[in-house]
Amino acid sequence: MSEHKEDIIRLSLSAVLLAAVMVVTHLLSLPVWACILLFAMPYLIAGYEVLTETVENVLHLEFFDEAFLMTVATVGAFCIGEYPEAVFVMLLFGVGELFEDISTDKSRASVEALMDIRPDKAEIETADGTKTVSPEEVAVGDVIVVKAGERIPLDGVVLSGESALDTAALTGESMPVSVAAGSTVASGCINLSGVLRIEVSGVYAESTAAKILDLMEHAAENKSKPERFMTKFAKFYTPAVVVLAVLLAVVPSLITGNWAEWIRRALMCLVASCPCALVVSVPLSYFCGIGGASKKGVLIKGAAALESLSSTGTVVFDKTGTLTHGDFTVSAVHPQQIDATELLEIAAIAESQSLHPIALSLKSAYRHNIPAERLQSVNEIAGNGILAVIDGKKVAVGNAKLMQQTGVEHRECHHSGTVIHVAVEGVYMGHIVISDTLKDGSTPAVAELKAQSIKTVMLTGDRKDAAEKIAQAVGVDEYFAELLPADKVSHLESLLNAEKTTVFVGDGINDAPVLSRADIGIAMGALGSDAAIEAADIVLMDDDPLKIAKAIAIARKCLGIVYQNIVFAIGVKLLCLLFGALGIANMWWAIFADVGVMVIAVLNAVRALRVKDL
Ligand code: ADP
Ligand code: MG
Repeated sequence: MSEHKEDIIRLSLSAVLLAAVMVVTHLLSLPVWACILLFAMPYLIAGYEVLTETVENVLHLEFFDEAFLMTVATVGAFCIGEYPEAVFVMLLFGVGELFEDISTDKSRASVEALMDIRPDKAEIETADGTKTVSPEEVAVGDVIVVKAGERIPLDGVVLSGESALDTAALTGESMPVSVAAGSTVASGCINLSGVLRIEVSGVYAESTAAKILDLMEHAAENKSKPERFMTKFAKFYTPAVVVLAVLLAVVPSLITGNWAEWIRRALMCLVASCPCALVVSVPLSYFCGIGGASKKGVLIKGAAALESLSSTGTVVFDKTGTLTHGDFTVSAVHPQQIDATELLEIAAIAESQSLHPIALSLKSAYRHNIPAERLQSVNEIAGNGILAVIDGKKVAVGNAKLMQQTGVEHRECHHSGTVIHVAVEGVYMGHIVISDTLKDGSTPAVAELKAQSIKTVMLTGDRKDAAEKIAQAVGVDEYFAELLPADKVSHLESLLNAEKTTVFVGDGINDAPVLSRADIGIAMGALGSDAAIEAADIVLMDDDPLKIAKAIAIARKCLGIVYQNIVFAIGVKLLCLLFGALGIANMWWAIFADVGVMVIAVLNAVRALRVKDL
């Protein structure tokens, strides 16, 4: 802020001096050299930075930026005796720049405040009491203590204590989440009430907070089409404007002999054509859009993703963990040869290493401590199930396809739901039927997308009848079942089209290939899922499908603002150039076309930061 203060003082001083000099020169008829000298004071005070920048750029053989335009225009104005105008242009240019700095800083600060999840310390338990260290120094397995009001520094599992967590910085949800012993907690959340003892499950660099911060810091590097266009445009634009201005000054003057008038018009055109409104407002709009989205728990990896999302034509959903909770309950156990507990036990041991929602559900259905030492080797076959060696015996746990592949004759089941078959040494042992529930947000999310004329598709590796039930309940336009991860990729490819963006939404468990193949991959419920954060373009911090429609709405609004600014700025400038060349407009018009348009464009850009609730 102190830097702004300096500028404010400098510009005010220049303004006061300018007024004084105008009064003095009006009252006394001074010689030309005295006028130049007097007006040069406020001019230099307001413009010395612009002038030095121009000199530096010219020395580096870089012509044709805004500073160059301003310097040529104002020095030119001095040459034809328009002293007050020259000072005004410089002064208002300075005011515009100042305004731009302040609003950019403000929006940056508010985005940074939202993303202020960087933990600064961790308190670890040691043999002799607790010790405060930096989060980077904590190792996996250390126990940290987090008191009420403190930010959780690392991901982990609660050992003891009960509390409510404020996850708003990560998910945008204001409802506190209650945790107790056994709950997994993500770094970046704030512990609201009790003291928690947490066993750390990953080092800081791998933590949720570090990942999100890293992602936000690099978001600006992925440039959008309009931004890339602007960079190229600026290269040709300014030289073209300068050449046109020179032509406008010289050609009519040679014909009419009225040099002063045509030079004045040419200088006016130079001022009016300054591209700063665009150069500033386009990236600022994206920045604010990304910031506003993150406030709602939607992390967008860059302007290019935001832009692509705004023209979404199809949204493809994964089923398990995306439209459904992925939190299966066992609805039937049909054993053969062994008893039900034994069947569940074999399944739970085989699944003990897996992070698949089915695995988690079977493990929790077993209820006892899993004798994981009986598991000798394990191989997870994505979209099929598990092949394992338990007590020296080959075990297969998975769907009908897995049974066919391993040559086991399995029995079909009349129950609805996902059926997990179990075979030991090629002998069928029975199956477990599990069923999943729809997320509350799934049906409204699909309805919301349809209302925006977006096609919805569901892809799943599950059985056809389980898939059909879910597809009908949520109302997706199409669904495809019994797909392996590779089939999901080829189905997605058939849905890609050139004009509209195809979005894939997954939970990050075995769908990373599809996430990266889609135009835009959205990973949801990403608190803790590393692969998803890597592969996706957009990360939803919680697993509410309604956020998808919200993210699309944010992207559309942001792109709307970008185009409004482009059309507005170019429109006003063209009009002003036209009127300037015709001699209708004067320097004041030009100043509005430059500074006024920039201020309006920046104010409009900042609107992208505000995101309405759906
Ligand atoms: P979705 O497409 O619904 O997300 P997946 O592709 O992850 O489902 O899995 C498809 C099917 O493969 C599951 O319905 C299940 O029958 C089987 N399967 C996948 N992983 C496992 C596992 N760890 N244990 C048992 N079965 C599994
Ligand atoms: Mg899945």
